[in-house]
Amino acid sequence: MRDCAAGARETGDTGGMSLRRYVASGRGGSGAILPVFLASLIVGVLVGALEGLVSQWLSLFLVFPALIGVGAGAAAAAMVHRFKLRAPGLALLIGFAGGAVGYTADHVVTYERFRSELIDVFKREQPGASDAEASAELDRQLAAKVGSPGFVGFLELAAREGVRVKRTGEKDEHGMSFTGTAAWILWGAELLIAAAVAAAMAWAKAREPFCEDCDAWYGTAMPVASGGAGSKEMYRQMTSALEVGDVDGAARAFFAPTRKPRAMFALSAATCGRCGGDAWCRLDRVMTQKRAQRSKLATWLMTRSDLSQLTDSLGRAKSGAQGQ
Ligand SMILES: [Zn+2]
Repeated sequence: MRDCAAGARETGDTGGMSLRRYVASGRGGSGAILPVFLASLIVGVLVGALEGLVSQWLSLFLVFPALIGVGAGAAAAAMVHRFKLRAPGLALLIGFAGGAVGYTADHVVTYERFRSELIDVFKREQPGASDAEASAELDRQLAAKVGSPGFVGFLELAAREGVRVKRTGEKDEHGMSFTGTAAWILWGAELLIAAAVAAAMAWAKAREPFCEDCDAWYGTAMPVASGGAGSKEMYRQMTSALEVGDVDGAARAFFAPTRKPRAMFALSAATCGRCGGDAWCRLDRVMTQKRAQRSKLATWLMTRSDLSQLTDSLGRAKSGAQGQ
């Protein structure tokens, strides 16, 4: 994550603009923890359980765990927003837990299906046996075969039989198979994927700009200007010009002519809808070929009057660049 290098430095009275980094306050914890956690957990478990049901016909390595993470992460992010949680580290931990539990639910559902199928088999073989007797017999056989009864015994059995990374049907025997320790490593990696995706989504939401004075999130970032070369070199020129308060220089760097532009800059800004506090600026690089892939170059806070100066200069620089 690169934040504007100029942002960390206060330029004070030297005529420079005061570009600062937005840092989440860490507030909003106590009331938000429970709803963020419950939402992340419930949606993570629902998606995980659904995948556990579907897994008898279809199971996709990486994709299925990532979907659990997306479900848990989206739910956590929605609650982070609603309950105004500005503690990214806390949001990250909660999202991680939701994704991890959701992934485990996937295996628990598969385990329950395995268990009920085998209990039915026992009861057919011994018509007099009760559910409890058949259940006890299953655990006894599991313990005898792999050393542990219950859920752990089931996982151990599945690991010994081998886990295929891609399964699209009962008879599908193609694809790589992981056996023993490799199967446990595969499951560990999948659990980390589900947890990391959910954690990243919750973390990113809690880092969005928030006005502590008005107790409200900033509005949506609106486009300020786009165009130029989108190059690292011009980006550096632009930020060092801004650092010393040279708005026109920054705008010229933004719209500097290039022979074969493969990318362009996109500057957007968000503000608090209730007060005249700082504007939160975001500079992106947008690839102009193939997909319009967007990557963040920098974010910073600046006063609204500084932003309107910059906007004016960008307007002049753009018409100047078009006039050439
Ligand atoms: Zn405000």
